[in-house]
Amino acid sequence: MESFQYVSYAQEVIFGPGSLARLSERVEHYGLQRLMLCTNRSMRANGCAALVETALGERLAAVFEPVEPHVMDVQVAVAVASAEEKQVDGIVGLGGGSPIGMAKAASFTLEKQRMARSTRTCTPTDQPLVPVIAIPTTYAGSEMTAVCGITHTRENPPQKVTLSDPRIAPKLVIYDPELTTDLPPEMTASTGINALAHCIEALYSITRNPLSTAAAVSGVRHIFHALPICFAQGGNLDARSEMLLGAHLAGLSLAGVKMALHHGLCHVLGGTAKIPHGIANSIMLPHVLRFNAQATAPLLFPAVEAMGVAVNERAAAPGKAAVEAAAQRIYELAGAMNLPRRLRDAGVKESDLPRLAQLGFENRTVHNNPRPIESVAQIESILRAAW
Ligand code: NAD
Repeated sequence: MESFQYVSYAQEVIFGPGSLARLSERVEHYGLQRLMLCTNRSMRANGCAALVETALGERLAAVFEPVEPHVMDVQVAVAVASAEEKQVDGIVGLGGGSPIGMAKAASFTLEKQRMARSTRTCTPTDQPLVPVIAIPTTYAGSEMTAVCGITHTRENPPQKVTLSDPRIAPKLVIYDPELTTDLPPEMTASTGINALAHCIEALYSITRNPLSTAAAVSGVRHIFHALPICFAQGGNLDARSEMLLGAHLAGLSLAGVKMALHHGLCHVLGGTAKIPHGIANSIMLPHVLRFNAQATAPLLFPAVEAMGVAVNERAAAPGKAAVEAAAQRIYELAGAMNLPRRLRDAGVKESDLPRLAQLGFENRTVHNNPRPIESVAQIESILRAAW
């Protein structure tokens, strides 16, 4: 049996249709008095922001509404200044991974500012000074993790850098599938594949553990069943609930392990080539699966079967064949949901590939890959296959 080690984060998770109604009661229970809401315009347009504001009532001290994708450092600075001015003691992130990432980045920056003179090392059980409440409306999964990515816009080219600290993990997560019924088909599809990618990279992670593996396999089963239904019938609350459950399990599996090549490349494609995170995921996942097949196939069998691919143990190369079938199935699922399947269709020029490959090679997460990455050329050939 393999040895394992992981950190779990003290988090309260509330799941179910209508669960946003619990927000007010939980905030009161936690004793939070002055909260900042981080969100964006589509949450204002669809009425979700107003629901949260009503639930917070007089406890709402500030709103940071213009959150843009990929958590820009310049926006973090503005959000933090507003939070400082209003002396907030909690931050609500409402929306996809971007507003939740902004809430995490602002909370952690405040923490560092207020603890500037402390030299004490952080332990896994440390709690944040300014807790984050996450209310996800996509399937990106950031609500479950202690990681936040911030794009450094003054670098040339801009780069997305991830920070990891137990205090970044949101303390309360409210999953209300009713908030996801108007998630547009493209966002449903792309963030759904992002959730699938979390499960896949958790299964072959170099720090995998029994909990992350169990969550990931279950996540794949729910996602593969529910995602096409959510894409075709956005208002189907049963399918939305199952898909959000799949995304939760995917986020849970992601939270306890190190991600690898796929996520490292998606951060480069997002931070530098400006490809939306879910789109980068749906383009890259089949290619990374193929590249990793020789090192990871047996670890992926349960997920491959959960995708409806039969694993023939008697075939000449059962692992490779099964992973190839899974990669093909994901490619077809992305196509059936009209997602771009090539980097060129997402605006990447062929001449960009060498620089993106170099940045990929310099990315920390890429070097957690179960199949070691030894050269820039390996990455460039994966990007060329995806181009
Ligand atoms: P996003 O948050 O940028 O949202 C994309 C768009 O979808 C926005 O325009 C948003 O307004 C819209 N939207 C969201 N929910 C909606 C709804 N219910 N109805 C209508 N429109 C809706 O995209 P995302 O893919 O959710 O998140 C991507 C970001 O999250 C990236 O920055 C990525 O790096 C980060 N992320 C972080 C982690 C982590 O663990 N730290 C994990 C996954 C993703």
